[in-house]
Amino acid sequence: MTGPQRTILYIEDDAASRSLVERALRYGGYRVLVAECGLDGIDIARREKPDLILTDINLPDLTGREITTMLRGETAFSTTPIVALTALTLAEQRELTQAAGITGYMTKPVDIDHLLERVSYYLNGGRDVTEAAPLNDAQTRYIREVVSRLETRIRDLERLNSQLERFDRMKDVFIQLTAHELRTPLTLVIGYNRLMAENPALRTISTNDPNIFMLFEGANEAILRMQGIIDEVLTVSRIMTNQIELTVGPCNLGELMERAIMHFNRPITDRRLMVHFTRANWANRIVADWELLSLALRNLLSNAIKYTPDGGTITLTCQTEGDRVRFMVRDSGIGIAREDCASIFERFFSSGNPDLHSTSKTAYRGGGIGLGLAIVKGIIEAHGGQITVESPGFDAQNFPGSTFTVVLPMVSPGTPRKRV
Ligand code: ADP
Repeated sequence: MTGPQRTILYIEDDAASRSLVERALRYGGYRVLVAECGLDGIDIARREKPDLILTDINLPDLTGREITTMLRGETAFSTTPIVALTALTLAEQRELTQAAGITGYMTKPVDIDHLLERVSYYLNGGRDVTEAAPLNDAQTRYIREVVSRLETRIRDLERLNSQLERFDRMKDVFIQLTAHELRTPLTLVIGYNRLMAENPALRTISTNDPNIFMLFEGANEAILRMQGIIDEVLTVSRIMTNQIELTVGPCNLGELMERAIMHFNRPITDRRLMVHFTRANWANRIVADWELLSLALRNLLSNAIKYTPDGGTITLTCQTEGDRVRFMVRDSGIGIAREDCASIFERFFSSGNPDLHSTSKTAYRGGGIGLGLAIVKGIIEAHGGQITVESPGFDAQNFPGSTFTVVLPMVSPGTPRKRV
């Protein structure tokens, strides 16, 4: 190429198109600047004054047309060729493009063989779109004012959004640090409690005095509950910050479910719940992280227990479908309002008044802190699976029930468990 190197700005949010076109233009000897969104494109254009601007029409923040209207209002860009890349070539779209002041357009996907030819055509004054009839002064000023207000609003929103993201990260760190800090003294409390429980003198006293025994039991239960909450918070913050790593190995899904049921044996008996479960129907060999999967099963089961009234039914079914396994936890409980079915998997989502929650994992409508299902979802998704819920609605009189369905790959990715 002869003469000074020309600069082309390419505004495109799709990474694959960006790298392809960028490479072809560089190959053609151009200096190429790229932007992933409209606002960055405008900033780069103002700073670098490119000889040609190629812009995608549908960008996440501004459209290619809005970018053009904005730039056309500035003297530096009154004659710069601005070419839109678009998959749409409808007449109406073309009219809009013309009204915005676009010089020409190329269809997407870009025809790489003809790209350099087209670019040099536009750089040498070629155009596909006839210049729009000039607007009167007031119309021009009005359009520029509207577009410039749009730019300011979008910039404000982006700033707010990045602030919110920062606060969200700070909150995650805060939760994680607090839970860690609480765990240290709690470990001491657990240790002292154990020493007290093993102390022969105290043991004799508590055996002989039911009141003292009750005090010990109460303290023990509260400590365990607090330990459970802190572990939940730590697990969920690991899941949410993508720090969850699977250690996978062969596991028997039926056995894991059976153990989960056994874990809740007492409340199931006390609350006269009927659990339908046939281990033989459950996949006996999948590859998964059994510790995390057990936690997920326990959380699902504890919810089914918690939200089903005494005497209700819980049905656990499983079937293998090719390289996937699908299992369901169905209960005859209070059900879930349709509008809540998506949000119940969010962190700290809890229905009802949290002040009334006892955090019991098994009392009817015991409640909790709203982390159980976020943990389940994180674990299932880390395994490459999905979880969904269906319920006819919430009704604490007629108990329509809820069904949680989990689909898991038979073999989940992860670090293989070492044999012991
Ligand atoms: P929580 O600790 O509050 O139980 P979860 O994340 O496990 O937290 O559940 C979030 C919310 O989803 C619960 O507060 C409850 O409203 C609803 N929920 C979960 N499982 C069930 C179920 N089996 N039946 C009815 N509602 C449920």
